[in-house]
Amino acid sequence: MRYVSTRGAAPVLGFADVLLAGLARDGGLYVPETVPTLSHDDIRDLRGRPYAEVATRVMLPFLGGEIAEDDFAGLVADAYEGFGHRAVTPLRQLDSDLWLLELFHGPTLAFKDVALQLLGRLFDHVLTKRGERVTIVGATSGDTGAAAIEACRDRASIDIVILHPKGRVSEVQRRQMTTVLSPNVHNVAVEGTFDDCQDLVKAMFNDAAFRDEMRLSAVNSINWARIMAQAAYYVYAAVQLGAPEREVAFAVPTGNFGNVYAGYLARQMGLPIAGFAIGTNENDILARFFGADDMSVRPVKPTLSPSMDIQVSSNFERLLFDLYDRDGRATAEAMTAFRETGRLGVGENRWRAAADLIKSTGIDDVGTLEVIAAEQAETGELLDPHSAIGVAAAREHRIAGVPTVALATAHPAKFPDAVQRACGIRPELPKRLADLLQREERATPLPNDLAAVQAFVRGAARAG
Ligand SMILES: *Cc1c(COP(=O)(O)O)cnc(C)c1O
Repeated sequence: MRYVSTRGAAPVLGFADVLLAGLARDGGLYVPETVPTLSHDDIRDLRGRPYAEVATRVMLPFLGGEIAEDDFAGLVADAYEGFGHRAVTPLRQLDSDLWLLELFHGPTLAFKDVALQLLGRLFDHVLTKRGERVTIVGATSGDTGAAAIEACRDRASIDIVILHPKGRVSEVQRRQMTTVLSPNVHNVAVEGTFDDCQDLVKAMFNDAAFRDEMRLSAVNSINWARIMAQAAYYVYAAVQLGAPEREVAFAVPTGNFGNVYAGYLARQMGLPIAGFAIGTNENDILARFFGADDMSVRPVKPTLSPSMDIQVSSNFERLLFDLYDRDGRATAEAMTAFRETGRLGVGENRWRAAADLIKSTGIDDVGTLEVIAAEQAETGELLDPHSAIGVAAAREHRIAGVPTVALATAHPAKFPDAVQRACGIRPELPKRLADLLQREERATPLPNDLAAVQAFVRGAARAG
């Protein structure tokens, strides 16, 4: 299994190198040279199997033999053992033809755990084999930091340093990071904003000497292994609803386009998916693209679904590469024009091909609260704001005779204020997190100063 860059000018790599590299050297994203397929018999044979086994079988072809099958099966089983539901990603029926796929039973109650719990273990496995270490650094406005910390805690080959803006992260989100007291986890509370934190991280990566000395790395949403891990739950859900004999549709709340792209990958592998409905908040660049061929950047607006407050969706480039018939040069040109003009045009035929498969819905905060209230009243289900946007998209774009699965990406208790505002019910944290507000915290306050942060990272990292 070889991986090529969407911009066609980076080295062709195998799975382990792609895992550790993240972004390709030409600025593109890695994708498999050819997508492995699941035959109808392969899909049928997944029926009734536990999540970890389905996931192992879906992902194995992407490894190209670089990790032994038994080792990999062990990593996958271990990644999902700590989930709060035996089915890992259970389905719940909301309506006669609408299901909710709950992706929030991981340690931080959001869907990013599904990919990151495996990613941390994969990093550790590959690095240990190579006798190497890395230092993961990242900035967070709340959500992704916690998922990355939970993924990397206690991993022998990894140190992780996460910067968050001091006093600007919700208490639950802060505590999900700062109560992890593992010796390889380092929380920094920066006297500044989220943008300051991001600038500090960028500056560390741009300092080539420092980056190499500390072996800096990231676990961001463009990492191919995250996409691969997410394709598994599409297969798992579709099989339960009758695949391969029966087609299924998926509705996905989207920000960086990683989650929906994973579904697109599952479809390319041969899973019979009739179509996708994506939902966005007011940061609706993707809804405007799929709805009206208008992909133009606007300023980011804060909303009730903060994990989708994104304008430029990093994983979209992978779809673009396919729309340009996997021509790296054409993709690179389109991305350059997009960066320079703030507008992406793909031409009528390419747009139609994309829009036929992916329908879109964009709703604002008022609409989101209405959906939470209506679903609670009609189905009894409490939805977090992100999941509500997915359900709205599912209801708008139903395909007659085809069951739709809406992906629930966060537990309602992660966003209790919005849920309470919408329907008057305050969702409670699951039992295993009930004492979160009493746990001991650890974080190091630092000024918004690159030298100070670099000195801290140097002290924390065992790689340097
Ligand atoms: C990250 C996130 C999303 C968006 O997923 P993408 O893969 O970036 O499209 C949606 N909901 C929640 C709760 C998230 O954390």
